[in-house]
Amino acid sequence: MKWSIQIVSPATHTTSATSVLVHFDKGRYLFNCGEGVQRLSFENKLRLSRLGNIFLTRVHWEAMGGLPGMLLTLADGGTQNLRVSGGPNLAHALAATRHFILRGNMGVSANEMRSPNDVFQDDNLKVRAVHVYPAHYTPRAQELAIDESNDMQIRHQLIARAFGKPQAEQQTGRRKTPLVQQKKGYYKKCSGGEIEQRLADEPGQKRARSPEQRTRHISETSLPAATPTEAALCYICEGPEVPGKFDVKAAQALGLRPGPLYGRLQRGETVEGPNGPIRPEQCVGATRPGRVFAIIECPSPAYIESVTNNQQLLALQGSERLLVVVHALGAGVATDARYRQWAGGFAKHVQHMVSAPEVVPDGNPFQRHLRVQAAMAAVDPLAYVLPMSSGTAELPLDAFLQGKNVVRAQSLLRFEVEPRPRLVTDDVPELRTPEAMLASAQAGTLYAGEPNDEAPTTSPTEVQGRESGLVVCPIGTGSSVPSIYRNVSANILDVPGYGGVVLDCGESTVAQLKRFLGHQRLNPHNRRIPKTFEQFVQSLRLLYISHMHADHHLGAILLLHEWARLSEPSKRLTVLAPARFHAWLNDFAGVQPLGLERIDFIDCQDARIDGRSSAARALLGQAKAALGLTELATCGVVHCPWAYGLAMTHQSGWRLVYSGDTRPCKSLVDLGRRTPVTVLLHEATHSDDLLEDAIAKRHTTVSEAVAMAVAMQAENLLMTHFSQRCLALPRWSAPAICSASVPRLGPLVDGPAPVDYEGTQELLGNLNIASAFDMSAYGPADIARYRKNAAKLRQVLRNEIRALAAEEAEDVDEEDPKSPPKKTTANKLQK
Ligand SMILES: [Zn+2]
Repeated sequence: MKWSIQIVSPATHTTSATSVLVHFDKGRYLFNCGEGVQRLSFENKLRLSRLGNIFLTRVHWEAMGGLPGMLLTLADGGTQNLRVSGGPNLAHALAATRHFILRGNMGVSANEMRSPNDVFQDDNLKVRAVHVYPAHYTPRAQELAIDESNDMQIRHQLIARAFGKPQAEQQTGRRKTPLVQQKKGYYKKCSGGEIEQRLADEPGQKRARSPEQRTRHISETSLPAATPTEAALCYICEGPEVPGKFDVKAAQALGLRPGPLYGRLQRGETVEGPNGPIRPEQCVGATRPGRVFAIIECPSPAYIESVTNNQQLLALQGSERLLVVVHALGAGVATDARYRQWAGGFAKHVQHMVSAPEVVPDGNPFQRHLRVQAAMAAVDPLAYVLPMSSGTAELPLDAFLQGKNVVRAQSLLRFEVEPRPRLVTDDVPELRTPEAMLASAQAGTLYAGEPNDEAPTTSPTEVQGRESGLVVCPIGTGSSVPSIYRNVSANILDVPGYGGVVLDCGESTVAQLKRFLGHQRLNPHNRRIPKTFEQFVQSLRLLYISHMHADHHLGAILLLHEWARLSEPSKRLTVLAPARFHAWLNDFAGVQPLGLERIDFIDCQDARIDGRSSAARALLGQAKAALGLTELATCGVVHCPWAYGLAMTHQSGWRLVYSGDTRPCKSLVDLGRRTPVTVLLHEATHSDDLLEDAIAKRHTTVSEAVAMAVAMQAENLLMTHFSQRCLALPRWSAPAICSASVPRLGPLVDGPAPVDYEGTQELLGNLNIASAFDMSAYGPADIARYRKNAAKLRQVLRNEIRALAAEEAEDVDEEDPKSPPKKTTANKLQK
């Protein structure tokens, strides 16, 4: 018997939910799945494939923001069954995701734990939920009892229709062969985060309804209204009993020879020996009850009384079997004397793991991205912004709780519960600060053995004042699933004198923004947007969502929550998005208030250049006035139903066109050609050699994106939304640009292709091209500078892939030197 608990993500100012993973030989249990948990588990090589159960301490986006993305990844990876347990409104929250998740191959069940008697139990764990509430809050009667109403049945039915039906209990976990491998047979997977193309439920069967018809159908079935709850759940978890030791000598003394009778005795049966019956206790030691750990969720000081006065939790404090307590605390709790005094009441042997924003330093867990960014910032400190983080905690650990058994929660910190209780700190990564990384990059020591050719080519003051006012900041530049180098889609603009714009908002955009802009104080490395995260959110005027794929909008709930919290009550926000996004927000507002009453919602369909409704015209007018725009218009693009491109023109003269996800298409060229385009922000998901993939998944290749810019006569092209399979700088070629075409429009570029790479410039005329990296800032001058720096940036990425390969080779050696070489990330990126 071996099991342990491990911190996946501690609570910091940047990401506030504490996530804990429990490892058993057969199965993993995740407590909380906030935004970024998936990316963190890639960064830290935590395998989540055997996950069969997820528990939430709160049905709140902070604790479950990473869950929809995780569900998509688990379903695509072959997980057959997943049970999600949590408090009231859990079924509502899961049913609400039907607007963009459709995964018939994975059974998902929502287990709402409502009363203190609700207990989850399987072979490994017995989990008891303890409900706590803020001081001013009285739970409604229906929050405390099992809900078998008609409304609840509708919610469960919607979950069962968006996912498959849960299979028999014992099958929880992973199927042997991921369904996606049977590509041609009956199931076709689009890139992650996108709706699958399911050809049939079973091999040989014909598909009755297209996936699109199915989501439309489910999306249009309305969800009964729900009211947000403030319940939070603490969990007391008990591991399996440990059987007593078998005493071979005693058995032999009783005349028993080794054989099946030993097993039967061990299982508690009385057996017939040579001299009469033998009872198990004659040769088996006493069974030891299971060991216990607890997760104490206290989201804010308002919950402290409820936690500290709870009888179940008070009883727990004296328990001999309790070995570990994870204190999952919101801001203001660790510094409160009432909580600290209560936390001091546990038995001496208990190990405390403290996860609280004041206690855990706000380090940057994405160290590989930070390394690349530091190397790039050494080349061009204006375009490549070092994300901000802090290496020191506000509150010393012993000010929270004194004793030798108190540690800060850190990613990968582990406590082995069985067989030998002990704290394991070996795997906790060292988090280097951005300043240290940059200093190494400038000294040429960031990458061992590489030439130091990263001397800055741009002085920070060089470009100031030369900009047209348009600076596009890609915050996430990867497609489908977040990776260690690229988070999923998000871009921001700050329109000086007016306010902020967010163009698509993938998971973890809020955390990325806090690192990019600085949280509470300005990021000193960001010379382009003179606003902190809080100031930017307060100034937000427009949120645009191009289409309903999860990698483009899962960060929006938290952003809207922060906007509702931080902005003045008189301020309004325009959300320009497909109608289904509005439906999703309306459903989710039953779980958590999002300030929807202050939001002006415009359906992208109504903002199309070729047909807008009069109601939309008035709202569009207001949105334009709020940002000083003379144009704000969409067009349909070729990707999934209700996918849109966007054009916006500012009265100061700049014009931005954003593609969203699309194949090269006539409507976007037409939208772009109307007046000169300062920057075309265009997806370039696939490299040119993967044109077939691009066609199948309705994306654009690099050369096609260039051809779109040429066709639109754009002045600058900024490419983004890159496949996570590629880290190299994108390459385009004249022949591929010339052969790019659009149905009904024909070739995007006139005339024959120049022969060589150098000749491409002749074809491109004055078009400047740059490829976006996460947390960067590009005005026209930065894009123009990119060509000059391209060779150095290319070298940085080559160094990074080499460094990653070296790290991964080391890992392989440590695990099992004789094992065959594994498929590593570096390997994949090199291709
Ligand atoms: Zn998409």
